Amino acid sequence: MDQTMVRQILGLSDLLEVKSALVIEPHPDDNEVGAGATVKEWLDRKVRVVYLTVTDGRCGTEDPRVSGEEMIETRRRERQEVNRLLGVQESYNLGFEDGGNWSEYQLMAVLVPLIRQFRPELLMTVDPWTPYESHPDHVKTGKACTAALISAKNGVAFKGQGDPHTVPQVAFYGTAYPNTFIDVTSTWDVKIQALLAHHSQFQEDPASALYLDFLSAEAERLFRDHAEHRDDGSGRMEAFKVLAQLQLHFFPDAIRS
Ligand SMILES: [Zn+2]
Repeated sequence: MDQTMVRQILGLSDLLEVKSALVIEPHPDDNEVGAGATVKEWLDRKVRVVYLTVTDGRCGTEDPRVSGEEMIETRRRERQEVNRLLGVQESYNLGFEDGGNWSEYQLMAVLVPLIRQFRPELLMTVDPWTPYESHPDHVKTGKACTAALISAKNGVAFKGQGDPHTVPQVAFYGTAYPNTFIDVTSTWDVKIQALLAHHSQFQEDPASALYLDFLSAEAERLFRDHAEHRDDGSGRMEAFKVLAQLQLHFFPDAIRS
């Protein structure tokens, strides 16, 4: 069964048509790297967007002279500035240690009541199944998010921690298996401004200019390959793997969806 048919049968909204989205990042900047322009599209459309940042971001420097506390504070301020720039009004840091020895289960246990509280129509996070993804925080975050979706809808699991809620679909950024392409030509510049406002990550590291060039070139390639209206051939897209919650368990064909 192809993805369009699965979505039609389940009555799922297109990505930009959802009313609310919970967007969960391992570190304070991942949401913008993976989906900043799409998030801006949502906010312009008055979609309720709630950000959760899993870790404190203390490892956001490789300079041993910078203390963990200093880095945490820097990244907290940068997250606030970027939220103002994009218009994100609800944003919370869960305080897990960046690169720390926490488990996927511990994070899931925190996420289940939050999902039941915010009751989003879509959850967006990093794709933990992208081959060669080696950062444990990214792998644990993506997997904890999808595991949390399965428990959040189950009235027996985490009983007494909020009313069960089914999140109908999930969207992964940073994916190797994209099936959904969003035209973000009009919000791309804001995404780049947001990334630059994560000053410690994108202005202090000399390699970061190259990374921003790579992101832009990739967005232009996605547009050339996937845009329906290519009259002048220029534009930018962000790519996602979008799955129905149904496809997150005992559904091997999800990889081809
Ligand atoms: Zn990250």
